[in-house]
Amino acid sequence: MHTLTSKLPHVGTTIFTVMSKMAAEYNAINLSQGFPNFPVNKELINAYHEVIDESFHQYMPMPGYGPLMVEVAEKIRTHYGRHIHPDSELLITAGATQAIFTAIQAVVHAGDEVVVLDPSYDCYAPAVELCGGRPVHVNLNADFSVDWNKVNDAITAKTRLIIVNNPHNPGGAVLSLTDIEALEAILDKHPHILFLSDEVYEYIHFDAPHSSANSREKLVNKTIVVSSFGKTFHVTGWKIGYLVAPEFIMSEIKKVHQFNVFCVNSTAQAALAKYLPQTDLSELSSFYKQKRDLFRNLIAGSKFELLDCKGSYFQVARYSEISDLSDVDFSIELTKKYGVAVIPISVFNRDKHDDKLIRFCFAKDNDTLIKAAEKLCKI
Ligand code: PMP
Ligand code: GLN
Repeated sequence: MHTLTSKLPHVGTTIFTVMSKMAAEYNAINLSQGFPNFPVNKELINAYHEVIDESFHQYMPMPGYGPLMVEVAEKIRTHYGRHIHPDSELLITAGATQAIFTAIQAVVHAGDEVVVLDPSYDCYAPAVELCGGRPVHVNLNADFSVDWNKVNDAITAKTRLIIVNNPHNPGGAVLSLTDIEALEAILDKHPHILFLSDEVYEYIHFDAPHSSANSREKLVNKTIVVSSFGKTFHVTGWKIGYLVAPEFIMSEIKKVHQFNVFCVNSTAQAALAKYLPQTDLSELSSFYKQKRDLFRNLIAGSKFELLDCKGSYFQVARYSEISDLSDVDFSIELTKKYGVAVIPISVFNRDKHDDKLIRFCFAKDNDTLIKAAEKLCKI
């Protein structure tokens, strides 16, 4: 019998796959995996039709399609006041997941430590482990804010990278300017550390502005910023995003990228290049704010306790008034018995601590949110 020693012995199938499958099996309303269920903007679909009829069916240049890169650089300039050189500081990727994986492979050496804030998005730690690095998990506070003293205490001479997700999935927290300044102070004190800023929900924030690393003079020279068109244009299945980093980091990332995917889907790049100039990304926050407010109001009378949601399209709720089950078992029960699929939060904690919290995705049409809320209010 052949055997294989696992490189990721503690990893199973992601919770998103597990819960979406269960939702389908039990015909539950799927508020688990984060993806929109409403139509994509007509202009984007039209742009796709146009490029399908044109000649965009062969390999694109390795770092990305030139006109798309120019448009992305322009968006970064208008939103963040940052002037990037698309040729040397930008890379179009097959979604944020590949962007993160590739960036980590490029900068983390065997034995390096990477600080990750839990609950953390599930692709960070395995990517670190696959290149022989060690994820150092620091727990966020109960409200998903960051204890920067804990982050500081986790740093050693081996720390290579700090990864922060802002706005935060699953917590819905958004870092304040004071947070960013605390991070800058830590990075100033430890010049050997690079920063990976996962900002896939950068255009979805509600009550306060979002401080992108793109807009911080002290960060841009040591930071890899991750963005995703999937989140911004409701096309998660297209798997397309991008990375911004200073040239000394980007040149190493490109070395990995060329042997990882080489280049990214040609038609999606060409369609986005046509569409981007027509878009106003500042409208996305108000679009999702209506959904957040609708969902929160609809379940305000239920037994779920709603935590703050300042950004992303996820709402976290405490269910301890309803059940003593673990969050994983409660999520299964909610799917099978009550017909609403959700994500348990403990799976994003390396120490698996369970605060009896679940995550709802509100990137859904209003009808879906209303139907889900009716079910949730009966519990
Ligand atoms: N980072 C975070 C925080 C995410 O929530 C997601 C996916 N929802 C990703 C990265 C991956 O994005 P993509 O689908 O573009 O790979
Ligand atoms: N990021 C999405 C979420 O948080 C899921 C993406 C995936 O399934 N890999 O729900």
